[in-house]
Amino acid sequence: MRGDRCARRAGGLPVTLDRSPLNLGIRQKMLLILLAVLLVAIGSTSWFTLQKQEQDILEATRQRGEDVLRLASHAVALYTVSYDYHSIQLLLDEIVTSPDIIRATVTSPKGNMMAEAGPPASFGEQRPVFRKPVMFDGKPAGELAVELDTEGIVQQVEQSRRELLMRELALVVMVALGEFLALSFFIARPVSIITDSLDRNIDGDGLIRKDIPIFSKDEFGVLAHQFNAMREQLNAANRKLQSRIEAADTRLLETNQALVQQADQLQKMNDQLLELSITDNLTGLYNRRHFEEVTEVELESCRRHGEALSLVLLDIDHFKRVNDTYGHAAGDEALREIARLIRDNVRITDLPCRIGGEEFVVACRTTDREEARMLAEKLRQVIMDTPIELGAATLSITISIGLATVDGDNSSCVLDTHFKHADAALYYSKQHGRNRVTHYADMARET
Ligand code: GH3
Ligand code: MG
Ligand code: MG
Repeated sequence: MRGDRCARRAGGLPVTLDRSPLNLGIRQKMLLILLAVLLVAIGSTSWFTLQKQEQDILEATRQRGEDVLRLASHAVALYTVSYDYHSIQLLLDEIVTSPDIIRATVTSPKGNMMAEAGPPASFGEQRPVFRKPVMFDGKPAGELAVELDTEGIVQQVEQSRRELLMRELALVVMVALGEFLALSFFIARPVSIITDSLDRNIDGDGLIRKDIPIFSKDEFGVLAHQFNAMREQLNAANRKLQSRIEAADTRLLETNQALVQQADQLQKMNDQLLELSITDNLTGLYNRRHFEEVTEVELESCRRHGEALSLVLLDIDHFKRVNDTYGHAAGDEALREIARLIRDNVRITDLPCRIGGEEFVVACRTTDREEARMLAEKLRQVIMDTPIELGAATLSITISIGLATVDGDNSSCVLDTHFKHADAALYYSKQHGRNRVTHYADMARET
């Protein structure tokens, strides 16, 4: 939680402290290191001390065994040569009353048991045994042996080990605690003061608001002092960076907007270009290229669906005379007016185009012969009946029309052939008086 807050205040600066249990802080690390060092140091010295103690105890035991043998062997020698077994037994009984001696025996030079006191060692029991030959007048008179109680020795060693352990533990705890408190005060506390101060004093823009308090004259004090000296520079650099980022952001935004506008304009220009490329610029109708492209596809579609498609080919009668009489500009005006009349009198699904000087075509999908005749007749009538205003003059214009229809009878017909049929029909109309409509299918009958 606190780490998160640090990161937020620092405006993204990498000052987050990971407070998870696995991530140890300075204090915990110091404590662990201290404990480890103390345990190793004191543990090793204690081991050596214990070794020495054990050796001392063993030496003392050996000394004790030899002392007992030395003191008793003389009396045993005297009793042995006088065959006073009773006194030997009394002596051995006396010896085993000592708390650290369990058993005492006297054997003859031949190894026969002469006297014994105390229980023999049970199976597997290890007892230190001290033996001494019993000499009389320089000759062996037997052997005295004493067996010591190891339990006492072991208890003694264990006891001193426990005491040592307790002393060690007390020492480790005290030294670790003392060192920990001292290190916490002199190292961990200054570090905490610095990090807490930074945590509290960094605002949302990453600026450091206040100096770190200078609390000592040691290296931490110098560090805080140096950091405070750098604070203004850091803040200035940060502000500069922020303003550069903002300026760059603004520029980027502007550039982006300009690019979007340019893309819009480009799209519009593309649309206009496309429109221009398919439009006749005098009349605004579609041009020949577009007529061919679209009608080719339409023809294929109608054929597939078993529908009829008709071409209505129109040519103004004696248009040369209009130009000659009223001028080329007036002729253009007349062409525009005829185009408007054609456009206004066809269906939305029809495709009116200007394909030559004063020649027009209307491609009509799903239009059979009869419907084509009706449309052509209507166009012829409208154009004939509409007076064309050319400045002061008003003239009446007529058109000749040729029709061709692709339907079930001639469905394999390609556009080129289809167009030629309409053209032949138009030619027929011209030849037979103009201002009339001829369907290619009717030509044979009429000729
Ligand atoms: P017809 O009845 O046999 O069609 O006679 P016509 O005079 O209409 O035919 P012709 O082919 O002899 O002449 C066509 C004329 O159309 C010639 C040209 O001056 C005129 N014309 C062609 N294109 C344009 C144009 O864009 N603007 C103008 N004003 N006239 C054009
Ligand atoms: Mg012509
Ligand atoms: Mg003409």
